Amino acid sequence: MGLRSIREIFIIGHGPSSSHTMGPHFACNYILKKYKNIKHIKVTLYGSLALTGKGHLTDYIVDLSLKDIPHEVIFDVKTVTEHPNTMTFEVETDEGTYSENVISVGGGSIITRDNLLDTKIKEIYPHQYMTDIMNYCLENDISLYQYVEMHEKEDTFEYFKKVLEVMDKAFERGLKAEGYLPGSLKVRRKAKEMYEAMEHTTLGENDVAMNVAIASFAVAEENASGGIIVTAPTCGSAGVIPGCIKYLRMKGVSDENIIKGLMVAGLFGIVCKMNASVSGAECGCQAEIGVACSMGAAMIAHCFGKGTVDIVQSAEIALEHSLGLTCDPVDGYVQIPCIERCALFAIKSINAVKLAVIIPDDDIHVSYDDSVKTMYKTGLDMNAKYKETSLGGLAEIIKREQK
Ligand code: SF4
Repeated sequence: MGLRSIREIFIIGHGPSSSHTMGPHFACNYILKKYKNIKHIKVTLYGSLALTGKGHLTDYIVDLSLKDIPHEVIFDVKTVTEHPNTMTFEVETDEGTYSENVISVGGGSIITRDNLLDTKIKEIYPHQYMTDIMNYCLENDISLYQYVEMHEKEDTFEYFKKVLEVMDKAFERGLKAEGYLPGSLKVRRKAKEMYEAMEHTTLGENDVAMNVAIASFAVAEENASGGIIVTAPTCGSAGVIPGCIKYLRMKGVSDENIIKGLMVAGLFGIVCKMNASVSGAECGCQAEIGVACSMGAAMIAHCFGKGTVDIVQSAEIALEHSLGLTCDPVDGYVQIPCIERCALFAIKSINAVKLAVIIPDDDIHVSYDDSVKTMYKTGLDMNAKYKETSLGGLAEIIKREQK
């Protein structure tokens, strides 16, 4: 197996959830394209989609995507499916009735009956694991960025220019917005307030952690309110990379270098997605914000001109110390703990790089692939209560306290 394009890690679209809004939106489009003369569609959501679909706006996005076609959305919280983000479409047409399962695998990607073969064809990299990629780069004396450039399409740099633009716009909008995020939690948008408060601190505008946190909050709040953001690698974790970008800009890194850094980050994201998961419903938050944190570390290390071993080690440290992170969004909204967590893990990306640089290269005991494998195995072992079902953790405790 090789790896697919890094583009699928950075998808531009509406928040708040890549698996619960973007994926179902793409699933509806797939059904509408495939079947003609549709009279009615029954959409049944299972597992995490059923349990947190309301808070994640899944039914809203299905309504929006199916537009005028008569349809109903069923939340089936009892039936257990092989993948936690499964949806069934029962499509009634003039020609007959058809039933089809679609799985939303995270980061906005879907698996359908028709694209199973496609995904195999789309593998464009010859390697599957980061260790093999790293060795190839060292043996051939090329950087990770050059490795990406060798295998992606020619216009990939242009695509990532657009990715950076969309991230910047989300940050700017998020920094100006006021009021409450949608939903029952009554969470106030805070990025603007935080920015104003920062200006009055003794540290002021130069404080790295505060600036990074504010950038992460601004974008994560945009995501929570359904604004246009970029998955990195998912919607819930979309605030991590913009926080890291803020840090790079404070350090005077050029946009061109940041774009290259994003492409290097994508390589780490696709390794996680194809060898493990980037879905909170499948493996908990370690697969979303944990992966985002390792991507952020790789991007920062690249932008600071670190060598391949240090870049890989930075990403490894960030992922290793995100292992076990659970997903327990309160009331199913991508708000608590997601927004604050994006900020904290952006800061962690920076620290992972600092640590990687001072740890001697000849005493590394855990490879990036080891951490990816551990993340996947830990995710599969994790109790379903902690995998985007809102049945355990903070979601359970806060509900209990509110009653
Ligand atoms: S807790 Fe993490 S994995 Fe779960 S919805 Fe929030 S960001 Fe996504």
